[in-house]
Formats: sequence, C-alpha cells, structure tokens
Amino acid sequence: MRTIEHWIAGTSTSGAGERRSPVWNPATGEQQAEVALADAADVDAAVAAAREAFVEWGQASLSTRTKVLFAFRELVNANVDRLAAAITDEHGKVLSDAAGEVQRGLEVVEFACGIPQLLKGDFSAQVSRGVDLYSFREPLGVCVGITPFNFPAMVPMWMFPVAIACGNTFVLKPSERDPSAALILAELWAEAGLPAGVFNVLHGDKEAVDGLLAHPDVDAVSFVGSTPIARYIHETAGRHGKRVQALGGAKNHAIILPDADLEYAADQLVAAAFGSAGERCMAISAAVTVGGVGDALLEQVNAKARKIQVGSGRDSGSEMGPVVTAEARDRIERLVGTGQSQGAEVAVDGRGVTVAGHEGGFFVGPTVVDRVTPDMDVYREEIFGPVLSVLRLDDVDAAIDLINANPFGNGTAIFTSSGEAARRFQRGVRVGMIGINVPIPVPMAYYSFGGWKDSLFGEHHIHGPEGVSFYTRAKVVTARWPHVEHAEHQRAQFSFPTAQ
Ligand code: NAD
Repeated sequence: MRTIEHWIAGTSTSGAGERRSPVWNPATGEQQAEVALADAADVDAAVAAAREAFVEWGQASLSTRTKVLFAFRELVNANVDRLAAAITDEHGKVLSDAAGEVQRGLEVVEFACGIPQLLKGDFSAQVSRGVDLYSFREPLGVCVGITPFNFPAMVPMWMFPVAIACGNTFVLKPSERDPSAALILAELWAEAGLPAGVFNVLHGDKEAVDGLLAHPDVDAVSFVGSTPIARYIHETAGRHGKRVQALGGAKNHAIILPDADLEYAADQLVAAAFGSAGERCMAISAAVTVGGVGDALLEQVNAKARKIQVGSGRDSGSEMGPVVTAEARDRIERLVGTGQSQGAEVAVDGRGVTVAGHEGGFFVGPTVVDRVTPDMDVYREEIFGPVLSVLRLDDVDAAIDLINANPFGNGTAIFTSSGEAARRFQRGVRVGMIGINVPIPVPMAYYSFGGWKDSLFGEHHIHGPEGVSFYTRAKVVTARWPHVEHAEHQRAQFSFPTAQ
C-alpha cells in the first residue's frame, strides 16, 4: 500500500509516527493509499524546520518574496489538471469542479503577488515640531493551517500564499482524508524557489493538531472545518497564546420571493445545493420559499434535481460525484430518514443510489426534503451532503427572523426582482456573506471571506485585506532627529508629551 508522506524542510519523510489512516477512492469505495499520521516528534520536526527557515525568510526582501510568488502562480496554473485529478481521486468531486477550486485558490496567490503594495505602511510628517510618525507591519513567525477535506487545495490556498508573502513560514495540516493536493503544492513551491522549511506539510489527526496548538514556537493558527472543532481550536490555541482564526460549519439559506425569476432561481438552487455533492461550506442547504411560491418553484427544482447525472468524478458525463466516505453517506441517509419520521416529505430521494460500474462507491443522489420545520434534525444539523431542505414562510421578515435564529451565519442568498426587498434582506440578516440573485456568494480573493456567529471564531476573516492583517503585526515609530534649531522642543519635559 502506497504511503503518503509528510513534507518537512524541503523533503518528503514518513516521519517518526507509526500510525496510518486509510485514503479512499470515494468513487470505487476502495482504499488507494494510507497517509502517515504525525506524532509529537513529527510536530517538533515540522515546527523546527519552519522556525529555522523564518530566520532568513522573515528578512527576505519584498522583491525576493514576490518573485517566488509569481513563479508559484505560473506553476500552479500549469498544474491545474494534475491538482484537479488528485482532488477528484481522493475527494470524489467532478474534475471541472476540482479545477474550479484550484482556480479560486490561484486567485489568492495572485492577490498575494501584490504584497509590496499591500504592506505599504503609513507616514505622517511633522506630527510635532521635528517629529515624524510612521507604521509598518512585520510577519508573525511560524503560522499553522488546519484544513477540511472539502476543498483540499482552495482552503489551504486561502491561507498560505498570504502568510508566506507577508514573510511568515507555514506548517499545513491538511485533512487526512484527501492529503495529496497539499504535497503537489509543496513540490510546486520548491520548484518556484521557495527556500526549504518555509512551507511544510504535516499529515495527521487530533494528535498532530493538539501538538501544533500547544507548541511554543507556533505563533498563529488558521483553521477551517466543522463548528465543534473550530470552537475547540479557537479556545485551545487562544489558551496557548496564539493568534487564531477558526472558520466553522454552515447552514446556508436561500430565500425565494414570488417576484423572482423562478426558472433562474431553480437552476441556481440545484447547482448550489448539489454541486460538489453538497460538500461546500457555502452550499445552499435550506430553501425558504416565501408567500406561496413553494409549489411552482419546487416543481422545477425537483425536475432539475432528478436529471442530475451522478457518477464518478473522473467521468466527463458526471455532474455530481460521490460523498467523501461511507460514514458520510450513512450519516446523510440517516438524517434524511429523521426528516421523514419527523413529518417532512422526501420529494426527491437520493438514498440508495448506485452507479453502474462503481457499485462500491459512496454515492448519494440529489435529495429534496419538503415541508421541513425548524425543529427537525434535517434543519438543525449541518448535513454536508446533497440534501436541500425546503421551508415555507409567509413573508421576507419571517425569513430574515428564521435566518437570524439559526446558530450559523456563513452565507445566504435572496432571489427577487425587488431592490427594496433585497436591501432589507442584506441589512437585516446576521450573516457574513450575502448573495443577491447569486446563490454562492464567495468573495473574490481581494475581499475577505468569513461568516458570523458559529461560522467563525476570532476577529479576522480569511484572505484579502483581513488575511494580511492576520498574518502581520504593526510597529508604529515616532522619530525625531535632533537639530540645534529645535533646541527649545528637545529639553526634558515632565508632563505627558503633546504635539508642539
Ligand atoms: P473537521 O472539523 O472534521 O476537520 C477539519 C480539520 O480538523 C481536519 O484537518 C481534521 O484532521 C481536524 N480535526 C478533526 N477532528 C479533530 C479534533 N477532534 N481535534 C483536532 N483536530 C481535528 O471538518 P471536515 O469534515 O474535514 O470538513 C467539513 C466541515 O468544514 C463542514 O462543517 C464545513 O462547513 C466546514 N467548512 C467550513 C468552511 C468555512 O469557510 N467556514 C469552509 C470549508 C469547510
């Protein structure tokens, strides 16, 4: 069985830890590799490599850093297909979707290529007689990224291009379920000329994560994953004095008003609910129909959902691949069952789907659960699968109240032709990312990405300007170069200094 190794100080290593975890091919249901799981000694080795590399990289000039970033950008661009294939084989999503996530990650690299502009400080001349005041930002040191299975390239690329551009070194702990994309990215960094130790990949589970959170040489932790783990990471890393941002799970609502273009809304809804088998933190998992539009909308949504081609992500005819593991499939099917037993109607049932030639694959077909109410498990839990729950409400304000009562606040969308309703919605919802006739409002890389409430713990959203702020800290300098003409202002003053 092939072993997927760590990447530490510029080389691959199986490390000291002896534990291994299976890596499945979700389309066939077969194990294709095993991944090394780091122990405490491996954590130490990765952090030591990053700490040592920081001595030089933290001092590298802006042009040196920028040159490496541009070279990395070209290499990732040339390797989109290779990365997409690795993602599809371990995650299951269709190739075009995998290539799309690499593209969205590349946009963060492109943003980070502008680091000289982003790190320009402020300067105020003559704030007092003969005194100038200026500020600039410096890197933190060793930054850690802990990432989920559902975007094995894009989510790490939300973090490390910005961290490295700012002059930090990085230890990535990717999901153990689809660890290969991270290693391809490590090879491409090396080829781009990034010095050994600046970017490291440490595979592992809770043991590796706990080791990183407590390590005295780690300065900052970025996490993306489920809410219970995000909360744990935020608390634990904070307790150990780290700067921390922890993005959690989601339950994203789309509300559909009677004045929406229903065919457009139905198309967007099925893509947003079933794309990537619903395993996106910005997937629409709850459709809220307003004011009697439910039946007309559902007729179209159900028809479109039934037509989706489910199959291997490698098959060019597939629109939706399998879910990531057999456990995920079983959990999704169980939750749909609870919806049924709690009084909802399963209008389109994807349970028990099989794909010819891939009978062992972890497939769940598109599923629409109608007449869901907020007390049902199918609404309360993040299902993270191809399941769209439909709730019916009377007006926009009731829909806004429903969204605000939900503990998650990652993304939401409204479908309407009324600017007034859209504006009321945009101002009323307590959610970080809002789409107006756009179902998956993931901001571009030069804005920051982040949810509210249980979808993000910490002060900073990820990438964009808030990413630069997260991965740096400010120095403010007040400077005077004494000169004989200013002698009056240079004598000892025992009152608190004020501008002269
Ligand atoms: P997860 O929380 O199970 O795992 C995320 C990471 O945490 C992995 O690297 C994993 O190895 C590690 N981990 C798991 N259990 C741990 C524990 N007990 N202690 C320490 N570390 C642990 O998430 P997942 O299943 O890989 O990903 C899906 C989740 O991620 C969904 O909830 C989804 O909404 C969320 N997600 C959120 C965003 C966002 O931007 N908010 C983006 C993508 C995914």
